Amino acid sequence: MPVVNVALPVPLARTFDYLLPEGMRPATGARVSVPFGQRQAIGIVTQISENSELPLNKLKPVNDLLDRESLFSPGLWRILNWAAEYYHYPLGEVLFHALPVLLRQGKNAELTPLWQWYATEQGRATPPESLKRAPKQQQALATLLQGPVYRHQVNELALTETALQTLRSKGLTDLRSQAPVTHDWRKDFAVLGERMRLNTEQATAVGAIRSEDRQFSSWLLAGVTGSGKTEVYLSVLENILAAGKQALIMVPEIGLTPQTIARFRERFNAPVEVLHSGLNDSERLSVWLRARNGEAAIVIGTRSALFTPFARLGVIIIDEEHDSSYKQQEGWRYHARDLAVFRAREEDIPIVMGSATPALETLHNVQLGKYRQLTLGKRAGNAKPAVQHLLDLKGLPLKVGLSQPLLKRMKEHLDADNQVMLFLNRRGYAPALLCHECGWIAECQRCDHYYTLHQNHRQLRCHHCDSQRPVPHQCPHCGSTNLVSVGVGTEQLENELAPLFPNTAITRIDRDTTSRKGSLEQHLAEVHRGGARILIGTQMLAKGHHFPDVTLVSLLDVDGALFSADFRSAERFAQLFTQVSGRAGRAGKKGEVILQTHHPEHPLLQILLHQGYDAFAKQTLAERKSVFLPPFTSHILIRAEDHDNQQAAEFLLQLRNLLESSPLKEDALWILGPVPALQAKRSGRFRWQLLLQHPSRRLLQHLIKTSQPLIGNLALSKKVKWTIDVDPIDS
Ligand code: ADP
Ligand code: ZN
Ligand code: ZN
Repeated sequence: MPVVNVALPVPLARTFDYLLPEGMRPATGARVSVPFGQRQAIGIVTQISENSELPLNKLKPVNDLLDRESLFSPGLWRILNWAAEYYHYPLGEVLFHALPVLLRQGKNAELTPLWQWYATEQGRATPPESLKRAPKQQQALATLLQGPVYRHQVNELALTETALQTLRSKGLTDLRSQAPVTHDWRKDFAVLGERMRLNTEQATAVGAIRSEDRQFSSWLLAGVTGSGKTEVYLSVLENILAAGKQALIMVPEIGLTPQTIARFRERFNAPVEVLHSGLNDSERLSVWLRARNGEAAIVIGTRSALFTPFARLGVIIIDEEHDSSYKQQEGWRYHARDLAVFRAREEDIPIVMGSATPALETLHNVQLGKYRQLTLGKRAGNAKPAVQHLLDLKGLPLKVGLSQPLLKRMKEHLDADNQVMLFLNRRGYAPALLCHECGWIAECQRCDHYYTLHQNHRQLRCHHCDSQRPVPHQCPHCGSTNLVSVGVGTEQLENELAPLFPNTAITRIDRDTTSRKGSLEQHLAEVHRGGARILIGTQMLAKGHHFPDVTLVSLLDVDGALFSADFRSAERFAQLFTQVSGRAGRAGKKGEVILQTHHPEHPLLQILLHQGYDAFAKQTLAERKSVFLPPFTSHILIRAEDHDNQQAAEFLLQLRNLLESSPLKEDALWILGPVPALQAKRSGRFRWQLLLQHPSRRLLQHLIKTSQPLIGNLALSKKVKWTIDVDPIDS
């Protein structure tokens, strides 16, 4: 009787053996339902063999086979197996992570009907202009008159469900469920809309990529903000799609705006599917299925879109490749960009990574000859680079963190009918609440971290564990009612700017104002309509949005970024600064960037302002090399947490001793720690870490691989919660 190895979504680095009933011959990568403990579980077949390490009469049989074929393409299957090894994460969890939720639950891998909005007969007889008192309804009806809209696409098209429902109550629109029709877009593929005439740099980049677009080739498209990277992507896609192949476009979490999507939709007569957070589980499954059967020509999505199966994938594009949202920061801590390069190699297709501020890792790979760089050095069209100033804050009076000279410039830009953008990387009203009598500070006990005051909700919130409590009326220590807020957050900035700029519309974009589904899109649409004149935001606002009327951009809290314990903070600041500078003055209007700082002489600011990101990157890479930091060495971070602040450190110490005594230990291996994590306490848990560093990634991998069973044998490994983070991006 043949035996089948099944991967289950459990935190164990092994597969499980089952017997195959007579006549059942599952494909590798198909789902089976199997008994597991007291319950039935869904697992994925990884292998079929003739025998097991266990006696055959101890094995239970598979109950049911769910799929006729593998759910994974051969390329994807190899990547996921490789990734489980590389990230030292259980294969079962990796495979399940890569599947849509409904498939994890055992639903059929088949298309089911979807809901669609359409204009009724009465709606079709109604001119949209007759609704001009209700612009949202007008826009919704106008859109439906051009064709029905799937319910999951409502937000992407900048429509609202409310407007559609109102129209429905008037009898103008309705919903119907639409059985999926298989349509081969290749038959009538065409480029729609007007192509731009590419400038020389763009044409060179497109030519280079096209000349190798039938095989694996990896490109860094380093193009300053507004240099026309998206036009390059579109031109590259044109050939790929014309050859009948599909494209995967990856964007940062927050970069998924209706404008971005619209540019892909408008250019090609081919179906574009978008994987965004607003989709429900069945919509997500349907995108997955339509990519797999080839019906979707283009799939746009964030990090996890990388695991979409394709019938004929022809190219991968990663926009803003430096963005940290490509790294998953919990559970299976994979880096989607790194895995995407691996996927491109496996599928033998080109990959294009675009950024105005390439990650130092990526630039290093260019230096090593692994990626080739294409450069777009000029802004496309006629936009000029922004003028940048450092504003020395020393001795200047501040109003909600703004200096007089900045306020004056804001007024001038607003008077010229332009928009102003202010960055402050602290959401909430104030980063702390303090007793003026005794100095008590409201602190989250679970994290040993100050509570942030959120005035609008009358709440204190911990930004580390998300816990909240009402604002106290009295100091719990001395009873005084004289509680004052310290520092400035975005909420306070918004409140206090209002009276300083009367009759000026202000919009705030941070995690608090955009947590509702579709609210980010609404805020952005309002900015585009020119409704908001002053935009306040955290770094969320920096990512890839095009605001043609913004001419003044200011970073309010530069100093916090200059003095940080994390060696990557300089890189992050340089990227933020360069990205936001690119937001100023795009459509031919002259832009201005003002940095408020107490340290205008800081070398980081000097090199960025006077020589730019490339020079900064070059110098920082040289520094990293001289002190043996990534990307010149590899890091693996082992984190451990406990409740008593003893066991985690003890466990890591034992682990350290274990690694020190490994035959693979050599001088080039550095082990740092155990030390408390930068954020030493969170949600009542104490956090410690051990950092491993070695010039050879392979050796480091090998060391962990060979030590893993021994780590599992340490008694404390069952008592503390510990994880392995390969290529960590924060510490
Ligand atoms: P990026 O993605 O590099 O930020 P975009 O592709 O969004 O840049 O282009 C920025 C702006 O320049 C857009 O408004 C785009 O329409 C315009 N643009 C791009 N390429 C050209 C070109 N070759 N000629 C004229 N305008 C262009
Ligand atoms: Zn007090
Ligand atoms: Zn907390």
